Amino acid sequence: MGMGTVVVTGGSRGIGAAVCRRLAAEGYAVAVNYASDSAAAAATVAAVEAAGGAARAFKADVADAGALAQMFDAATEALGPLAGLVNNAGSTGRFAPVAEQDPADLARLFAVNVTGTILCCREAVLRLSTRRGGKGGAIVNLSSIAARLGGLSGLAPYAASKGAVESFTRGLATEVGPEGVRVNAVAPGMIETDMTDGFLSQPGARERVVAGTPLGRLGAPDDIAEAVAWLMSPAAAFVTGTVVTVSGGR
Ligand code: NAP
Repeated sequence: MGMGTVVVTGGSRGIGAAVCRRLAAEGYAVAVNYASDSAAAAATVAAVEAAGGAARAFKADVADAGALAQMFDAATEALGPLAGLVNNAGSTGRFAPVAEQDPADLARLFAVNVTGTILCCREAVLRLSTRRGGKGGAIVNLSSIAARLGGLSGLAPYAASKGAVESFTRGLATEVGPEGVRVNAVAPGMIETDMTDGFLSQPGARERVVAGTPLGRLGAPDDIAEAVAWLMSPAAAFVTGTVVTVSGGR
């Protein structure tokens, strides 16, 4: 303990789970947020505890503002004062040409990836801002190289949602820098998780991505956790409003 609590949204699986394990190893108490997979969240908590760290699982849909306020209160009550937030929960939405996209699916995609990120930042800033009685802290948002490249075929709306995350990161960094809160983003390339499993199991997909990646491999969740941990840490004390790309060169 001593370093404070970090809320990691979508900490049950994939990149978020790796971020939870890594931040716990750095000495943060970790609030492992998840949407529905309570077994995966419990496994992340168990992995943190087995390594000597502190973690608790908290179920909340990041699109549900009321649930988020309750989660931040419960997390700080159980684990100690807030030090930071990692906005990692996200969804690709439906793989489909734009001509076949459905308004309800699009609304849900933006509710989770964009509004969810903004709402979690609201809860974090309320507790971290020195202007509001907090001690300052750091926020890291998960973008994607899709924000710059436009996304895989069928994922233009997802790419747009990550573009919004990057714009919001810059805007919030400007707003709360004077209040002791740093805000940055990480833009991963193709990382092997449940999110990319369906795409990568299509014939030839994996080979095409690797061939288009200068460093010649797919990314692992730990590659992303490394960048998140640095941006969260005091080593990045003069870094805010920026996007760190971790993509093997894409
Ligand atoms: P993943 O394996 O699909 O895991 C998604 C995580 O988010 C799960 O923990 C899930 O919880 C949680 N989640 C989803 N919707 C949620 C909601 N409404 N409220 C709360 N939690 C929710 O994803 P990933 O590949 O690790 O990706 C993590 C982040 O990195 C995402 O923002 C993604 O867009 C971004 N990213 C990923 C890649 C990649 O190649 N994998 C590349 C660029 C960016 P449950 O376990 O309860 O379902």
